[in-house]
Amino acid sequence: MTNSNHPATACIHAGQSPDPITGAIMPSVVTSSTYAQSSPGQHTGYEYSRSHNPTRYALERCIARLEGSELLDQDDVTFGGFAFSSGLAAIGTALELVDAGSHVIAGDDLYGGTGRLFRQVRARTQNLKFDFVDLSGAAGPSNLVEVMTPNTAMIWLETPTNPTLKLTDLRAVAKAAREINPDVLVCCDNTFATPMSQRPLLQGCDIVMHSSTKYLGGHSDVVGGILACRTPELAQRIRFLQNAVGSIMGPFDAYLTLRGIKTLAVRMRAHTENATAIAKHLESHSMVERVIYPGLISHDHHDIFKANMELAGGMISFFLRGDLEASRRFLEDVEVFALAESLGGVESLIEHPAIMTHASVPTEVRSELGIADNFIRLSVGIEDVRDQIAGLEKGFAAV
Ligand SMILES: *Cc1c(COP(=O)(O)O)cnc(C)c1O
Repeated sequence: MTNSNHPATACIHAGQSPDPITGAIMPSVVTSSTYAQSSPGQHTGYEYSRSHNPTRYALERCIARLEGSELLDQDDVTFGGFAFSSGLAAIGTALELVDAGSHVIAGDDLYGGTGRLFRQVRARTQNLKFDFVDLSGAAGPSNLVEVMTPNTAMIWLETPTNPTLKLTDLRAVAKAAREINPDVLVCCDNTFATPMSQRPLLQGCDIVMHSSTKYLGGHSDVVGGILACRTPELAQRIRFLQNAVGSIMGPFDAYLTLRGIKTLAVRMRAHTENATAIAKHLESHSMVERVIYPGLISHDHHDIFKANMELAGGMISFFLRGDLEASRRFLEDVEVFALAESLGGVESLIEHPAIMTHASVPTEVRSELGIADNFIRLSVGIEDVRDQIAGLEKGFAAV
């Protein structure tokens, strides 16, 4: 096993070593649901595939290392990394860490499905008390302190947020939270940034979460979720819940995700290069009201970007100059960018959050956040940027 901490090397080698019998370079897809025992309770470390699966383990170890975990085999068999059947399954399992009736503070701008799970499921079934607060920017830590109590059990945040791309100073928020309750669990959804840009576990968070459906998988062909942590104690609790709740990632999906991660470093550089050029193009465009991209100096939290993040990534949001009808025409006529939900694949996607990904967000919350009728989100792929810009121009020409 190559133990380099350099992310581009870790993407390819972390958690993986050639098969001791065949020398196979890639971990095999182990489909067996069960494993033979030599005597009752005497097994090889693999007993039943919900609990232990070598293909899933390879992925779990790889992402744990990428997110900065330094746990050893004796601390946790997958170094504190855990793979689930979807991003929401990962979040659902993380919520099982807190007791019924707990107070949870969540960011005010979240992936629509995360907000739906919180508001429409766990508030009812787990009686969780959610406060949705703007944790971004310079005011983030003081906004947190206003609603936090010594009994607050969990903080859930995204940075950049989806879809308004606000940034949180993770160190400052985690520090403010621990001063009020040293045992609070600070969790960060790192789907948009990926460990190529920021590693929340190294910035004070306890748990990092991914929808690996997005950049980690990277090819829009597999759904999955990840949790990673860096203490043996938390790893033990998550390992128990992963097995007890059972929403694990299957071996084929683990294989595909692991294959996707091999190219994460080069993909994220290419996404960022293209998105930077497109953000600048849009910023000087007469038909665009405003562009939101962390890499632009005009971004409200550009200082946090510079301090905490290495890459601005592939996500851009912007306000078209026009109304809902103009947005509709733009989205129908744009080329290269496919009109579709999701993000993070090699292909460019475009969407209308108010009607598509964030339709489940209450209307008044949407308008508070500025998710208006002329608000458009791009997931910039790795095609030639000249084609991407030409494709966007087709849309502008139609408006
Ligand atoms: C997609 C997404 C999720 C949910 O993940 P699924 O894999 O779709 O269940 C959570 N957070 C963010 C930021 C996402 O983009």
